[in-house]
Amino acid sequence: MTNKYIYFIANWKMFGNLRTLNSLNTVMSFVKNLKKNNVKIIYCPPATLLKPLSDKLKFSSIQIGAQNCHESDNYGAYTGQINSSMLKAVGAKYVILGHSENRQMGENDNVINQKIKSSIKSGLKVIFCIGETLTQKRKNITKKILSRQISIGLKKIKNKKDIIIAYEPVWSIGSGLIPKNSEINEIVKFIKKKAKGINVLYGGSVNSKNINVLKKINNVNGFLIGGASQRSNNFIDIIKKTFN
Ligand code: PEP
Repeated sequence: MTNKYIYFIANWKMFGNLRTLNSLNTVMSFVKNLKKNNVKIIYCPPATLLKPLSDKLKFSSIQIGAQNCHESDNYGAYTGQINSSMLKAVGAKYVILGHSENRQMGENDNVINQKIKSSIKSGLKVIFCIGETLTQKRKNITKKILSRQISIGLKKIKNKKDIIIAYEPVWSIGSGLIPKNSEINEIVKFIKKKAKGINVLYGGSVNSKNINVLKKINNVNGFLIGGASQRSNNFIDIIKKTFN
């Protein structure tokens, strides 16, 4: 792990309801007693829970992020969509963009670029997800794919201070499979060089067992955690073990 800020970002995906928020009580007391000032903990629940979670976390250092937004920074006739300023208004400080589950539904690099721009304009920090599929990995074109995702995703964005990149190999998300530490290290180094110093997280099947291995990667700035973040005890374990 690096000695800069270390991020633990919980992506709840399409899970959770008002009752689920009670499970965060243990995380809140854990964080209150965490004697570390370089740790950032961010919860990204479904949009329906942003406001109640924001109210619940009013006096906590845990921050909130959304999981996606529409590319327009205006209001408009886009049924079912939510723009970045609407997310900001209900307490979101971050937004996950470019997640592979959305790319798989047709979101392309240019749309992601517009979403990133509109989110920064609205005052959100962006967790920009990139990653290769298994086929791309097997073809040995991972760096080419990441390079394209970064160049188009960050096109014409001068101020990158509000962006964090999450390197999430698509084949690793939800599969229980993780790359070797040396592979993550090499890719993170590549991304940092290409994206000129942006912090880079690893995401994909991080859990309370493999964290003991993953925490040894010395250039990663934290983790984006899906499945394992839905149980507070697992999430707390991941944070504890990272520092043990
Ligand atoms: C994710 O969805 O961003 C993710 C990393 O999921 P999981 O941890 O479940 O692989």
